[in-house]
Amino acid sequence: MAELLKNFFLNLSNNRTMNAGAQKFGLKLGAQSVVAGTSIDEAINTIKQLNDVGIEATIDNLGEFVHDRAEAIAAKEQILCVVEAIHTSGVKSHISIKPSQLGLDIDYDFCLENVLDIAAKAYEYGIFINLDQENYSRLHATFTILEAVHAQYPDIAGTVIQAYFHEAMDNLKQHTGYRLRLVKGAYKEPGDVAYTDKAAIDANYVKLLEYSLLHAKYTSVATHDHRIIAHVKKFVAEHQISHDRFEFQMLYGFRSDMQKELATEGYHFTTYVPFGEDWYGYFMRRLAERPQNLALVTKQVFNKKTNTILGIAAGAFLVGRLLKR
Ligand SMILES: Cc1cc2nc3c(=O)[nH]c(=O)nc-3n(C[C@H](O)[C@H](O)[C@H](O)COP(=O)(O)OP(=O)(O)OC[C@H]3O[C@@H](n4cnc5c(N)ncnc54)[C@H](O)[C@@H]3O)c2cc1C
Repeated sequence: MAELLKNFFLNLSNNRTMNAGAQKFGLKLGAQSVVAGTSIDEAINTIKQLNDVGIEATIDNLGEFVHDRAEAIAAKEQILCVVEAIHTSGVKSHISIKPSQLGLDIDYDFCLENVLDIAAKAYEYGIFINLDQENYSRLHATFTILEAVHAQYPDIAGTVIQAYFHEAMDNLKQHTGYRLRLVKGAYKEPGDVAYTDKAAIDANYVKLLEYSLLHAKYTSVATHDHRIIAHVKKFVAEHQISHDRFEFQMLYGFRSDMQKELATEGYHFTTYVPFGEDWYGYFMRRLAERPQNLALVTKQVFNKKTNTILGIAAGAFLVGRLLKR
């Protein structure tokens, strides 16, 4: 059942029509508990509150389903405004960007040009850029973009290693000179490139974390998994790894008490703060990861009507899948 729900939400996350519909609703489907508003000002205010309790941020101007050059250029202009807002407000934050949002699916060189325009401004202000990793089809191009950015603007960018990929350890070993965020992986991937069993993903994630903590320039341990966080705390103490070589990261709106606790305990902590009108795909992936998130969100903000619609959709999907078997 958990697997069916996961597939249900991952399929929804790729639905362009649903995305367009959701934008019309505004942040109403419960997403406001995990998305920090639709405007830059709202996101900056959220970051100020996080900074006040010792937490830094990485800001993601949400955007997916970019299929033409005008959309990609608009996304770039918006991200440049975010960089400017971080600089002028003085908040402690870097940015996270997605190559697909900047035109990777249209043309590699066009995307690289857009990323380099952002890198130029970020470099001028000393604001770090994380290139988020997406599906397997974009993995290698994202590493190539990272290397091209580094060649022109040294050390301004880093990326993500997704533990569900069979090749993750090779990717990690090739990129230890960068600041790396390690995650389990959020997209739907086939068994020929990725582990699909949760225990195997978790085991690989721990292996990668240990290697990265020992060898990489800087490791962002991005997980809400308290067992893995406890393991990392023990591992860094045993290996005398300085707190300046790693941090913990979590998503905005998830395990907020634990986020504050870790910062209070003296660990560097960064919260991933997404904002913008294009929140739908991001929100569906969060529901796919942990169906309980649906219960948390419904308790907080879902109204009865939305619950009913999603309930019917989920029911129809599940019955459809069961009948197909
Ligand atoms: C900062 C950040 C950035 C990310 N960037 C990317 C990216 O660029 N590309 C990408 O593919 N993926 C990214 N992800 C998503 C990531 O790949 C995982 O899909 C996501 O983090 C879920 O995995 P998890 O490690 O948090 O734990 P899970 O495997 O989802 O959960 C493990 C256990 O932790 C506990 N737990 C988890 N969440 C909660 C909660 N909300 N409340 C209470 N207990 C909980 C439960 O006991 C659960 O069984 C990112 C995640 C983070 C945190």
